[in-house]
Amino acid sequence: MASAELEEICPRCAHTLVAIPLKLGDAKVVMRSCSACDTRWWQEGDETLPLGQVLRVMKDNPPPSQRRGHRDAGRFRPKAVTST
Ligand SMILES: [Zn+2]
Repeated sequence: MASAELEEICPRCAHTLVAIPLKLGDAKVVMRSCSACDTRWWQEGDETLPLGQVLRVMKDNPPPSQRRGHRDAGRFRPKAVTST
């Protein structure tokens, strides 16, 4: 049985990649990013999107999470380290 969930590796450092499906304007794209060397790129289907195009669409279509709101201020609290 073939699995659709192949593990993908970074072309630069061979670290495991994270693939995140996103909506970019009207297009469904996948952002792939490597946490080890910070390489990241976007693909729409089989096509790699140029970064300039991605940034332009992002600027025109800001994600809702960028809304300002003081109630969300504590959302990204650093993890408390408790060692007892
Ligand atoms: Zn990498």
